[in-house]
Amino acid sequence: MSDIIRLLPDALANQIAAGEVVQRPASAVKELLENAIDAGANDIQLVIKDAGKTLIQVIDNGCGLSPTDARMAFERHATSKIRDINDLFAIRTFGFRGEALASIAAIAQVELRSRRQEDELGTRLLIEGSEIKSQEPVSCGSGTQLLVKNLFYNVPARRNFLKKDETEFRNIHEEFVRVALAQPQIQFSLSHNGAVLYQLKPAKLRQRIVAIMGEAINAALVPVQEQTQLLHVSGFIGKPSHARKSKGQQYFFVNNRFIRDGYLHHAVMGAFDQLLTDGSHPAYFLFLELDPRRIDINVHPTKTEIKFEEEQAVYAILQTAIKRALAQYHVAPSLDFERETGLDGIDLFPQNPEDIRPPQLKLNPDYNPFSNPKPATASAKVQPDGWAEFYQITQASLPQPTMFADNESTVVEKHAQQPFQLHQRYICAPIKSGLLLIDQQAAHERIRYERLLQNAGKGQSQRLLFPELLPLNRQEMELISPVLAEIRQLGFEVEILGPNLQFTGLPPDMQAGELPKMIDELLEQLRIKDNGLRLNQHEALARLLAKVGAIATGKKLETIEMNLIIDQLFACEQPHFAPDGRPTLTKLTLEEIARRFV
Ligand code: ADP
Ligand code: MG
Repeated sequence: MSDIIRLLPDALANQIAAGEVVQRPASAVKELLENAIDAGANDIQLVIKDAGKTLIQVIDNGCGLSPTDARMAFERHATSKIRDINDLFAIRTFGFRGEALASIAAIAQVELRSRRQEDELGTRLLIEGSEIKSQEPVSCGSGTQLLVKNLFYNVPARRNFLKKDETEFRNIHEEFVRVALAQPQIQFSLSHNGAVLYQLKPAKLRQRIVAIMGEAINAALVPVQEQTQLLHVSGFIGKPSHARKSKGQQYFFVNNRFIRDGYLHHAVMGAFDQLLTDGSHPAYFLFLELDPRRIDINVHPTKTEIKFEEEQAVYAILQTAIKRALAQYHVAPSLDFERETGLDGIDLFPQNPEDIRPPQLKLNPDYNPFSNPKPATASAKVQPDGWAEFYQITQASLPQPTMFADNESTVVEKHAQQPFQLHQRYICAPIKSGLLLIDQQAAHERIRYERLLQNAGKGQSQRLLFPELLPLNRQEMELISPVLAEIRQLGFEVEILGPNLQFTGLPPDMQAGELPKMIDELLEQLRIKDNGLRLNQHEALARLLAKVGAIATGKKLETIEMNLIIDQLFACEQPHFAPDGRPTLTKLTLEEIARRFV
């Protein structure tokens, strides 16, 4: 048999490599923005059409390329950023693999215009599927303009794999935000389909954060500053009171590069410790600077993961820095933090690595704070085994709903015996055959859910005396706009007013005070569902809203409130279960009770 091994043609090899570097429009955006930064630009414009599927354009005022380099830049493994292996360990630029441009040119139609300051004429280069179509001198501004058209035009399988524009653009938007946060001194703009979303002036970090996240965050930002031999930590954390249900505002930058790191995240969360209410996420924008030789950024082609040589020391320093910041700004009781145990006394470079006392934690190596948690309870739970039987039993043994129907003749009877509350969690109501136990939160969720659905479409709402304004940033606005119509269906009167959601009316059962929490929760749900919560039925939204505003476990109830809940629950079509399938009530019969006394 003849030999069968062949070398892949360059174009094909590039296409395959492109699969690693360019998974979606957002990855091309990231590479191009990083190149512009590496080129020393202080003004970078990003222009997008159709979520990057039609056009990604980056215009920078950086160093530009010579005609020869322009051509070289698209060769595989062509980079100006490292020359030998030592450079690799000291690298401060974003690029070094020399893969990005070659990969992008393999799967798109690319046009480059570039001129170095010192040259009179620039170069225009057209490449399609790795093939150079033309190269000619052109007169253009100094710097580089790169147009990437019709991404994946020659790889239909990949193109079909792309998500809908909304999702792809959300990813681009997030890449842009990461880069713009990391480089506040650089001027950036972003436009999509002709609409300018950001025009960011060169700024200090705080201003840049506010320009992107919205004015609301300004008052919540607490500066963090810590300098040790190993590591410089700076940036801002959000006060615990600003913590949100959504994880949208958590950013680590190592040497000005955005990274994901579950271990560092854990350090931050540890510092916030008791200060957060359950399930809320503090904002942070943290910059770690350290000698590039002490980190390995080469671990992942997209370079968002990182390995630290002194992982545990970095952990300890970061955590202490944040505790100190919280204490200093009187966010945390300063008793919690003793200066003596701070960093000043720690030997950060012990001879023996064993001397570093490892932070006390159990780490799940697979833990990734950026991966999507399980969506809370957007879909109804599968009923537990034996449910049908249970259901029959309760149906049969329960006081019939008619007995509790809202009709005056029964009022006296049903309230003759007073309900009482157990552990601020259960409503206990003596009934003829024993004791009725109601889970107050589950019950109230059911009540709110059915009321919201009943109201759906009827558009009944109570008008607010004063409109309620909720500031959202652009990313949040993008998430919520597609579901506004559904929200209105449920009886909300809401408009987008500049950077705010303006509520002028609410469904009958809602309070204005619930709005911030409700929107926060909704945003988080929209965020964790990759394609946006499918709210073409109001159900999912109603379920969510029902949950957010429900009387929580732990709330003390007055008799009158308990009676109201009992009445309203039995007026429901399905009183036995919360919208997510949890039981709302159960019964202890007299026989059961009696049996325990035998
Ligand atoms: P890398 O960034 O890893 O070096 P790329 O494929 O992204 O590889 O880019 C190849 C080379 O092209 C870079 O090393 C740089 O010299 C040059 N280059 C890319 N983009 C720009 C730009 N916007 N301005 C100037 N030079 C650029
Ligand atoms: Mg690059």
